[in-house]
Amino acid sequence: MAPQILVIDDDLEHLNAICDVLQGGPFSVFRTSRPERAFDIALENLPDLIVTDWDMPGLSGIELIRRLKGHEATRDIPVIMCTGKMTSSENLETALAAGAVDYVRKPVEPIELRARTRSMLQLSASYRQIKANELELARQNTLLVQQKQELHIASITDHLTGIYNRAFLTDHLDREFANSRRHGHPFSCLLIDIDHFKAVNDQHGHLVGDLVIRHTAQVLASSIRKGDLLARFGGEEFVVLLTNTAARDGAVMAENLRTAVERAVHRHGGLTLRVTVSVGVADTLYDEAMSETELLGHADDALYAAKRRGRNRVAIYGEGPSPD
Ligand code: GH3
Ligand code: MG
Ligand code: MG
Repeated sequence: MAPQILVIDDDLEHLNAICDVLQGGPFSVFRTSRPERAFDIALENLPDLIVTDWDMPGLSGIELIRRLKGHEATRDIPVIMCTGKMTSSENLETALAAGAVDYVRKPVEPIELRARTRSMLQLSASYRQIKANELELARQNTLLVQQKQELHIASITDHLTGIYNRAFLTDHLDREFANSRRHGHPFSCLLIDIDHFKAVNDQHGHLVGDLVIRHTAQVLASSIRKGDLLARFGGEEFVVLLTNTAARDGAVMAENLRTAVERAVHRHGGLTLRVTVSVGVADTLYDEAMSETELLGHADDALYAAKRRGRNRVAIYGEGPSPD
């Protein structure tokens, strides 16, 4: 598209003279003799260049430039001041200080006006290109930041249930241990396993099994407190970490979770199912120097005890009948 030039002059004779000169070039020229309308026309059309008279009733060329500079959309449109006033260098200084990029004297010298117009349009085009490049760079940068965030979220999320995955759990356990040691608070680990889950798969198929895992994760997620962490440990097993909580209090939370799962109904088509969970509870008080593997091992031992005692129950590591 040919570059657009807006010409403004209240004197129709001058206006037409300038437009006649410019119309000889590869530009699309439009004009107004009403300076008070000039800003709105510029805002609406966003021309590549404005050639304006200085002395005009209602709105002077200088005031027009100030308005253009004051608006985000029109701020960067180059303006050539075209006036008989440019006889003194003070006037020239005023025009340039207001933001004009160039000036031409009246009566216009066609070759000079065309030459200055061409050079300003080249400048304007380069400027627009730079701005477009900057915008594109900023867009790509935002996209990269977004992608990085999405990748990070994907890397810590379990794809079936949408809760945290085991990798995140391992990271979080590190932090939880560090906090626990720094503040001298214990924390509890609940290992939760769906009872007889293999039978769900065997009787209703893997898809229904998936649905039950997903729904159970939702039930658990809506039953834990803010600040507790729920992750899928693997298969039909989940881990909940309870900050600043000893095993006895952890067992109360475990009992709440167990009841919530027991009450939940899983529906698929015409099918309704219920499942139960067994929960093993262990805390860091048992041995203050314990490792993450040991803590999980204790929770697993307790889970095993709960299974052995009949399932759908909670067991605390180191409590209750000793293993046989
Ligand atoms: P228990 O009460 O002793 O825990 O018995 P269980 O049947 O739940 O335990 P087991 O470990 O024998 O079976 C777990 C089953 O979970 C076996 C495995 O095929 C199934 N499983 C593991 N991951 C998934 C999964 O992502 N989707 C489905 N549908 N099944 C899974
Ligand atoms: Mg299991
Ligand atoms: Mg199981």
